Amino acid sequence: MAVFFIMGDMRTDPAARNAPRFSLPDASGHFGAYGGVFAPETLMTPLAELAEAYLEARDSAGFQDEFAALLRDYAGRPTLLYHAVGLTRHLGGARIYLKREDMLHTGAHKINNALGQCLLASRMGKRRVIAETGAGQHGVATAAAAVKFGLECVIYMGAADMERQALNVYRMRLMGAEVRAVHAGQKTLKEAVNEAFRDWVASSRNTHYVLGTAYGAHPFPMMVRDFQSVISRESRAQMLEAAGRLPDHVVACVGGGSNAIGAFFEYLDEPSVALTGVEAGGRSISPGEHAARFAGGSRGVLQGCATYILQDAEGQILGTHSVSAGLDYAAVGPEHAHYRDTGRIRFTHASDTEALDAFKLLCRTEGILPALESSHALAEAVKLAPAMPRDSLLLVNLSGRGDKDVWHAARAMGETLAL
Ligand SMILES: *Cc1c(COP(=O)(O)O)cnc(C)c1O
Repeated sequence: MAVFFIMGDMRTDPAARNAPRFSLPDASGHFGAYGGVFAPETLMTPLAELAEAYLEARDSAGFQDEFAALLRDYAGRPTLLYHAVGLTRHLGGARIYLKREDMLHTGAHKINNALGQCLLASRMGKRRVIAETGAGQHGVATAAAAVKFGLECVIYMGAADMERQALNVYRMRLMGAEVRAVHAGQKTLKEAVNEAFRDWVASSRNTHYVLGTAYGAHPFPMMVRDFQSVISRESRAQMLEAAGRLPDHVVACVGGGSNAIGAFFEYLDEPSVALTGVEAGGRSISPGEHAARFAGGSRGVLQGCATYILQDAEGQILGTHSVSAGLDYAAVGPEHAHYRDTGRIRFTHASDTEALDAFKLLCRTEGILPALESSHALAEAVKLAPAMPRDSLLLVNLSGRGDKDVWHAARAMGETLAL
């Protein structure tokens, strides 16, 4: 594996003083053998400045209070912990709880991170934010957060994704964001990330890059994780209140890994709580047919960090496929790669068909329309719950709502909507 960059001025990480689960990453951004800073020379200073500003903000009561108020008053936190009685009855076995991130403003957990980063950008004196987006969910969340802070907002999006997600493109524009089409390569997320980095190289003095998941060069994986960890801080207290104890098992879907690490974070130090991350199994686990990095990938470096990547023998990035756009990425967040190696988090995958079945099942048993991404976590719950004792507790992170997916789901199930 390539040499890691060690950034001397990050060695004073105050996180080392915090609870054990805060002991990662180390001062150079490593989660064991993963993470780090793989960036062009011109971004080393902006990344170091960001790390310094973030660690200062993380220790600031003022910043944390402002962030908590935004999450409460604008995003709609705390989200519900819902005992899914209908789904539990249908499956038999474990009592299933859903953490309702789908109830948040803009429809998913992504707003937690977008608000945190825009708050930090303002604190750093930046006047402009940029972001990449695939399906458009992170773009919409960032556009909304930018409005809140009066920041100029530019979203990079692959031209192919813009066609498929025309509604989200228009949502962003309604909120005053400029959406820039990226025509390079496959015209999807990977190319949009490259373009956002190119912008940042030239604009970092007045611009913050709002990266959308727990991925990329340090400090992004740590910072996004911290912003999303509110999910498990809430669910932990809510489970104790509702059931009198911690869950036996927590399940979340894994794209870049932000909703999953947020849903797992407070349980990492609790050996009694099993943690399962679910990747996109697509049509099958063969090259180009899925996005299950831990099933078909290997170690490598992509877009800022060392992690598990879908690549061929020459290190060329493989094409990916998933019924859900939000899970359709060739690499996974470095913290997940680390916990996969240590065994703390178990990883599996759900196929397109299993996810679609779980999508329909939640509609029928609960009257809740889940995002296709979240449906991958539900598909794993469908497999786990029947084999678990009736008094056991299974917590599923419902990362987002499925309204955005109705058109696509109908097509995938062979139906045509007359709209
Ligand atoms: C974007 C998205 C995901 C995948 O991103 P993570 O960073 O892995 O959480 C999952 N669920 C929903 C609803 C999303 O919008």
